Amino acid sequence: MEKEQVSEQARQEFLQRAFANYYSTSPAIKMVSVPTIDSREFGAGFEKKIDFRHKSFVSLAEFLGFLARDGPLYVSYSTARYRYPAAKPMGKKECLGSDLAFDLDTNFSDRPHPTGGHNPIICAHCLNLARDEAARFLDEFLCGDFGFKRSEVSTNFSGSKGFHFHVRTQEVQQLSPDARKQLCDYAAAYEVAAIKDDNKGILREKRDGTAQELWGPKSSDGGWGRKMLTQATNFIASAGDDELKKEGISSQKIRTQILAARQELLNKLAQGDWDYLPGKYVAGGLKDFWIGFVNRAISRIRVQTDAPVTFDRARLIRVPDTLHGDTGLVAQTRQALDGFEPLKSAVAFTSGVGLVTPTVDGTLEIGGQTVEFKAGMEAELPLSAAVMLVAKRKAIPAQNRDRT
Ligand SMILES: [Zn+2]
Repeated sequence: MEKEQVSEQARQEFLQRAFANYYSTSPAIKMVSVPTIDSREFGAGFEKKIDFRHKSFVSLAEFLGFLARDGPLYVSYSTARYRYPAAKPMGKKECLGSDLAFDLDTNFSDRPHPTGGHNPIICAHCLNLARDEAARFLDEFLCGDFGFKRSEVSTNFSGSKGFHFHVRTQEVQQLSPDARKQLCDYAAAYEVAAIKDDNKGILREKRDGTAQELWGPKSSDGGWGRKMLTQATNFIASAGDDELKKEGISSQKIRTQILAARQELLNKLAQGDWDYLPGKYVAGGLKDFWIGFVNRAISRIRVQTDAPVTFDRARLIRVPDTLHGDTGLVAQTRQALDGFEPLKSAVAFTSGVGLVTPTVDGTLEIGGQTVEFKAGMEAELPLSAAVMLVAKRKAIPAQNRDRT
């Protein structure tokens, strides 16, 4: 066998052994629960995320037995429920309904990072940004715009970089793929812009030569218009001279006018009049400023999900509270996201060590420890770090010297 194949096989065996051991012994396994498990399709993977699918289990006990015996690196299930979940092709399963799921997987590696920068192996700062985005998506879109109750949304860490949301209420079961896609498109703001050619943007220009040129959302509006009005209102209510300048109002005269009459401006905004400056109208005086402001606010607030997970019924999604084969972390269900740090709270292997030879130099902050390692230097690392490095193909597990 080629050397690469040998190390790939060693990787798989090392992880499978650790995972099977976790699934057989960890008390956390009690968290795994799949509603109406006997009507779900399952897929699992050892080499890839899904090596096989169209599998079904009659009970949670049977499923947990499979995890403990085989130690799959990845296990996922259908948000859809079927009369015959193991039947194939898909058409023969007879779909009974489908939960509504969302997958957030934004890459934050190019965002500003604190000292030390982005950690290419697994980055605590990126995970924090992902968590904050997930909390915002839950609050602003799922509960705010879509109207789900907090208790109707089950939130879990994906086990790698992102977060998953599951709504399993009766009302969502028969939503069409198109309706599901529209929810993703809405959150991603694909159709939303400050100004559009058809004048149906957030801001609308009046082109009849009257003094006032710019209209925007008013307080009775909903959706993205309301979001933008809230952003504008909060900004005008609190901005000082510096903030106004930073957001693009270069004229000192206009900044002074705004600061002298905040309340008047706020009242006008609430009525949809976005072109008002105290004292008199300056036609289009704030137009360029608001266009820039709204476009920046849209890109700050929009959340892009992996839409096919939501609308393609045939897609499988990670079973919450199982392990992720790219990290060895738990796809942990969370009641609250506040302060959640996956590299502390979602660590599966909280004791034990693993003997590995890293292929890169680096540092991991995992399980409350800082673990340093050097390329080519065999080292006995905390098991969580050893599993992470092997999972990420950044270390080769020791052969014939099994210390895990
Ligand atoms: Zn990062």
